[in-house]
Amino acid sequence: MSGGEELLRSRGLRVTRPRLAVLDVLSGGGHLEVEEITRQVRERLDSVSTQAVYDVLGALSRAGLSRRIEPAGSPARYEARAGDNHHHVVCRGCGEIADVDCAVGAAPCLDPSSADGFEVDEAEVTFWGLCPGCQARRSADE
Ligand SMILES: [Zn+2]
Ligand SMILES: [Zn+2]
Repeated sequence: MSGGEELLRSRGLRVTRPRLAVLDVLSGGGHLEVEEITRQVRERLDSVSTQAVYDVLGALSRAGLSRRIEPAGSPARYEARAGDNHHHVVCRGCGEIADVDCAVGAAPCLDPSSADGFEVDEAEVTFWGLCPGCQARRSADE
């Protein structure tokens, strides 16, 4: 049994070839758009519709096996790193996204100064800036 099959079963999900393929693509790391995920899934399976990939991503997200992020101005992206309350830093120049760690349990961002009575269980912070590549291009332009 592959790691992907075990993961799916552990979350009570039926094991299907498209689900295994999407998990495999996501386990490669990064923050991928649906278009890119579909392209890579098609390298593994003969024919998969974009809608099928959306359906799989929805099921995986609900089961906590993938996470959907959608920085302002960018299409939705998916990643395998879910449930650890990490954040993202997005480059204003090229749109590159990197993870920013936030430790589970001792995450200070889970204690907002005021939550208006809400019980908070997740914080999603998006940092914006320039990636190293764009910084280098900017100083070369100057
Ligand atoms: Zn950049
Ligand atoms: Zn991430």
